[in-house]
Amino acid sequence: MKPAYIGLDIETTGLDPHNDSILEVGVGFFDTNLNLIHVTSQVIGYDQKYFTKMVHSMPEVVKEMHTKNGLIDDILTSDNPRRREVEDSLCDLIDEYTDEQLPMLGSSITFDRSFLDEYMPKLHQRFHYRSLDATSAKFAALSQFHEENQPEIETAISDLSESLTHAMIEEHGLSKDVAIPHRAAYDLIASAALVKSSMAMVKSLGFHEKAQ
Ligand SMILES: [Mg+2]
Repeated sequence: MKPAYIGLDIETTGLDPHNDSILEVGVGFFDTNLNLIHVTSQVIGYDQKYFTKMVHSMPEVVKEMHTKNGLIDDILTSDNPRRREVEDSLCDLIDEYTDEQLPMLGSSITFDRSFLDEYMPKLHQRFHYRSLDATSAKFAALSQFHEENQPEIETAISDLSESLTHAMIEEHGLSKDVAIPHRAAYDLIASAALVKSSMAMVKSLGFHEKAQ
């Protein structure tokens, strides 16, 4: 099946692309209806001593998150390919699926793009400059509802999005080790699910109700 979007998510040591590093990259292929065709994620290998120093200088909240989701442990205990190798293999994978630059699908995707620019420019070039940003889609959907209803609608969107995410994960038989929040594969699937759920919520409104 021909993909229409390429989902992307990266896990990092922090928020600054000039001083922080990429720890994991996930890439997923979606059709025009945002059904998942294929997803993969790759943990980046670092020299153990160097990585231990990186862990020490991570902000507490990031350290806690990547301890809980097993990412730090994965880097410390497995022999993962280095950054260039990961970049090359993800470029090869994209080339297998498409020879076009497809829009990037993700959440607050400017963040991910800034890290790709810094560390994986070749991979970044595989994408179109257009993005389908789940965070923006949710904002746009919420803006269609009266302010007093928005908290309730937001909860409905995230409930629907979570069940869609789990359905896609199950359908593709993703390993339980990586199919958890704040891991790249999960997050990029969750982005597609969030776009779908936001659109479903808007569709539930009649056309004339929209601009109230
Ligand atoms: Mg993520």
